[in-house]
Amino acid sequence: MRALTEDQIRASFRNAEPDEVAEIAMPHDLLLAEWDYLDFFAWRDPIASRSGYILIEQDGEAVGIVLRAADPSRVRSGMCNLCHTMQPGNQVALFAARRAGAEGRKGSVVGTYICADLSCHESVRLAPPLAPNEIRAERLADRRLDGTHRRVYSFVASVLGDS
Ligand SMILES: [Zn+2]
Repeated sequence: MRALTEDQIRASFRNAEPDEVAEIAMPHDLLLAEWDYLDFFAWRDPIASRSGYILIEQDGEAVGIVLRAADPSRVRSGMCNLCHTMQPGNQVALFAARRAGAEGRKGSVVGTYICADLSCHESVRLAPPLAPNEIRAERLADRRLDGTHRRVYSFVASVLGDS
């Protein structure tokens, strides 16, 4: 992704009203983000703890969506639908995103299970190698990142009503 400033991030949200966007708290480590390496950017709001955000890049422009986490689940474990990592129950959460535009104003939402801390990028990268051969493990990680990238983009598209 291209590096984004706080202003660019705030301008990117498509499923939130201006007053909601004004309330968004940036991640504490925004200045340390390794943009070159990121396919998408996601974080939990450090103040409004139910809220989370995912930004992708579309036609060279940042596109962001706001998510709200449901009550902590009581399941013992679950799979993140974006990075396909199995997580203990308290580390996977049901998130709902209001659809962009008129549909969202009527109350339509898209929901899915995602890593509770939205750290899918790290989950994939830090997953233990599946094969003893390091090169092969690296390729598997690449493939998992590709899949995660695709699923994140299609989730955002479904919130925007593009799919
Ligand atoms: Zn995940």
